[in-house]
Amino acid sequence: MSAFVTIQEGCYKFCTFCVVPYTRGAEVSRPVAKVIAEIERLARAGVREVTLIGQNVNAYHGPGPDGAEWTLARLIARVAGIAGVARLRYTTSHPGDLDDALIAAHRDIPALMPCLHLPVQSGSDGVLAAMNRRHSRADYLELVARLRAARPDLALTSDFIVGFPGESDDDFRKTVTLVEQIGFAGAFSFKYSARPGTPAASAAGQVPEDIKAGRLRELQALIEHQQAAFNARTLGTTFDVLLEKTGRYPGQLVGRSPYLQPVNVMANAEAIGEIVPVTVTALSANSLFGTVATPSRLAAAPALCPAGA
Ligand code: SF4
Repeated sequence: MSAFVTIQEGCYKFCTFCVVPYTRGAEVSRPVAKVIAEIERLARAGVREVTLIGQNVNAYHGPGPDGAEWTLARLIARVAGIAGVARLRYTTSHPGDLDDALIAAHRDIPALMPCLHLPVQSGSDGVLAAMNRRHSRADYLELVARLRAARPDLALTSDFIVGFPGESDDDFRKTVTLVEQIGFAGAFSFKYSARPGTPAASAAGQVPEDIKAGRLRELQALIEHQQAAFNARTLGTTFDVLLEKTGRYPGQLVGRSPYLQPVNVMANAEAIGEIVPVTVTALSANSLFGTVATPSRLAAAPALCPAGA
């Protein structure tokens, strides 16, 4: 089983397109002791994977039992020591709050999964400034390089907004080249949509809908291509999968790879909740298929459906 645990709420970054600072208020972090108690309870109930969540989760600065303010990196190290917790994730992060200790955590804490959602929104410095993102394209690229140096198998996903007010064709090209340069395992991308009360909603240079739509199509095609390439690279490899539920077909279970890909295997239902090594044998558009390399008690009846169905 996996679970989400809220550790932080609110945000004071004031990106010019976002309502969170107005609707959720300033950043508030839960005390370490409360977070730990909740996760210990979840672990006793069989949860093996925990995702720490917050609007700006890596700005976490909760009061610790020692009276100090704990960072997210320190909290992750503590949570990784809880018996039963085998996998950790956190989301959603702001690049400006990804400090050295958190990068080192990706290198040093095996339970921290090699998969990070790190929104960038645009590859253009002009648009990033208009968004008040507080980082540049070069800052983001440098951060990615440092993360990949710390954890070479790290898969990155991101968020993009196309057609932000004032975004020119040249600005959009910079987003495309950023995506080409980094190579994402997936991303969420959207046309800019005005949120009443935010600065960008009344900004000059609103981009016509047909131009936004064309840019979104191009960006999504590129990201889909990168995602398919990322999935294809897993073919023939073996990694641990947390089996979560029964699948569409009798004898089939569905789990998650370290990179959050859905993985279908044939195995007994008693294996639900276990983390098992799986060798990827086939791909479909949105998921992987594999075989479990485990003791025979997990073996399933002969497959009733072809891999890739
Ligand atoms: S950092 Fe995220 S939550 Fe905070 S204002 Fe920007 S987009 Fe909104």
